[in-house]
Amino acid sequence: MTACAQQTAAPGKSIAQLRADFPILAQRVHNHPLVYLDNAATTQKPQVVIDAIADYYTYDNANVHRGIHTLSERATAAYEGAREKVRAFLNAASTAEIIYTRGTTEAINLVAQSWGRNQLQAGDEILITALEHHANIVPWQLLCQQTGAVLKVAPVLEDGTLDPAAFAELLGPRTRLAALVHVSNALGTINPIADMVAQAKAAGALVLVDGAQAVAHEPVDVSALGCDFYAFSGHKIYAPTGIGILYGREALLDEMPPWQGGGDMIRTVSFEHTEYADLPWKFEAGTPHIAGAIGLGAALDYFRALDQAALAAHEQSLLAALTGGLTGIPGLRIIGTAPNKVAVVSFVIEGAHQADIGKLLDSLGIAVRVGHHCAMPALKRFGVTGTVRASCALYNTVEEIERFAGAVTRVREMLL
Ligand code: PLP
Repeated sequence: MTACAQQTAAPGKSIAQLRADFPILAQRVHNHPLVYLDNAATTQKPQVVIDAIADYYTYDNANVHRGIHTLSERATAAYEGAREKVRAFLNAASTAEIIYTRGTTEAINLVAQSWGRNQLQAGDEILITALEHHANIVPWQLLCQQTGAVLKVAPVLEDGTLDPAAFAELLGPRTRLAALVHVSNALGTINPIADMVAQAKAAGALVLVDGAQAVAHEPVDVSALGCDFYAFSGHKIYAPTGIGILYGREALLDEMPPWQGGGDMIRTVSFEHTEYADLPWKFEAGTPHIAGAIGLGAALDYFRALDQAALAAHEQSLLAALTGGLTGIPGLRIIGTAPNKVAVVSFVIEGAHQADIGKLLDSLGIAVRVGHHCAMPALKRFGVTGTVRASCALYNTVEEIERFAGAVTRVREMLL
């Protein structure tokens, strides 16, 4: 039995068997078996998700909510059924708190423009961290330009963990919102999010958590966490692109005005006055990504059926293999060595450009991401403008990581 077959992540299912759920992984790239290590950018989709989307278009395709015919009723039931799956996944109190968006980016922009634009005044403060993805920086910069609010940034320490003292110090009476990344996409750092939320709430701020990189790696329970908003993207958790979620506390969402206007978000419209729909539809103007929502529901069903403790152990073995495999390669520097990390490793090699490393790895069938990972300020903190990033998902194996580490050594020798 191979090491790969021995790794398990689901009751009665080995990693090798799980891999078979993802048809894309079986292919060869440049005549090598594909090693897909770009999962922080997007994850691959299991056959059940592909089938759910294909079945919807094959049998049920219709617009939701407005139809009285059978197909529309089926489409609506599947679309709203998926919302309940998301609610259960996040442990939100009600489906009224689950808003479909295009992804994390749109969810954060929704909060910035609906809540922030109406609530913030000049001198109010928004606190983020130096680990944020651009999606959790730029919407707040735009909001600051619109309202005169001020953006504050909590720094990170040399190992890529948040500086807890600085974070505590930056939270003050003027902090109206803390917008915090749960897991860093560039470095893999897992923030102590429960503590951070509790501190920000104690300081009187609202808290938005960017969970894009967390949902597939960390347990998320928004009720226990006590955050006000939690955003994530379906495509980071084995679901399609173009669908994401904004969780918001119902009382807050109730008070917030719609962000976009159009069909589906209204109860009545006249030229004089429009009455908005109830939550969550008040925030879902226009025909939604119905197939995406159904695919997200199927992905969450798939993911939640797996043994989460086994997945977490598997992830830590992948991280150990990655860190161990890369450590000691001459001139290689790992950026982000926090004690609490997901299986993401960012690195640079002295004298070798990331783009060349990435291209040569691709020629060996290995997919990684190179560049700034939409986190330019986080990388700047470490004196680099880009890294090579290997990021794992549940279907990666220790053997793949060993192949990857061997390939990095070879590529380095080819380049230097
Ligand atoms: N936040 C983090 C931490 C991310 O990693 C990403 C995507 O990589 C995003 C936000 C943006 O997600 P999306 O592009 O799916 O909206």
